[in-house]
Amino acid sequence: MPEGDTVYRAARLLDRRLSGQELLRTDFRVPQLATTDLAGARVLETVSRGKHLLTRIDGAEQLWTLHTHLKMEGAWRVYEPGGRWKRPAHQARVVLCTARAEAVGFSLGIVELFPRELEHEVVGHLGPDLLGPDWDEAEALRRLGEDPGRPLNEALLDQTRLAGIGNMYMAELCFTSGVHPRTAVGEVPDLRRMVRRAKQMLELNKQRAVQSTTGDLRERERTWVYRRDKQPCRRCSTPVEVDMTGPEGRQRATYWCPSCQPAGPPAS
Ligand SMILES: [Zn+2]
Repeated sequence: MPEGDTVYRAARLLDRRLSGQELLRTDFRVPQLATTDLAGARVLETVSRGKHLLTRIDGAEQLWTLHTHLKMEGAWRVYEPGGRWKRPAHQARVVLCTARAEAVGFSLGIVELFPRELEHEVVGHLGPDLLGPDWDEAEALRRLGEDPGRPLNEALLDQTRLAGIGNMYMAELCFTSGVHPRTAVGEVPDLRRMVRRAKQMLELNKQRAVQSTTGDLRERERTWVYRRDKQPCRRCSTPVEVDMTGPEGRQRATYWCPSCQPAGPPAS
């Protein structure tokens, strides 16, 4: 599951390679847009909002927003025009070609096109975006605090509280704050500090191609507990634990060190 910084990097890539250019050819390989053709339109910009990508396109008579979401396996790649794709063609969901670039969205979880004035219907529900230009720490804390009995791991993943945290940062934030992931939000000793740390982690990682929360960029050394179940905790050597939590069908693996992050009273 891509995190906010990954989506931010994807937006920067598309923005750098497509903005200001005319679309010479488009190919939407999703049923609802199969007949859509934006050739002749001009790409204005691409921005990220939480984990959503918004590509704004000027179609002369209409300003459009192409909304895409990477979900689990999605990625945007940009090639030279006519260049060889490095992922299978059958995974392509959107192809945007200009004279200088060929952008391909592979395995995207969402592909939608709508008039720009309806953007708020897609991203209006999101909490403050950790990497957004309008980041608002107080508002994020207010939203997190609305349901003090909720388990912290669920609250951090809820994009309507604050936007940008996925499973990896959730686990790493709980560890670096010494808090068990199922702790009730209202019982977290210093939520403000945790939110500031979340922003720091994403800000640091949005600049680089590999994500690390430990500061170590070597493979296998990049996280404290995420995907390290059964391995010794980097601080105390206790084996890291993993558990599946969340609503049926949308369960997520949660990782923690039972001795650095002791379970407190159960969340209600
Ligand atoms: Zn530990």
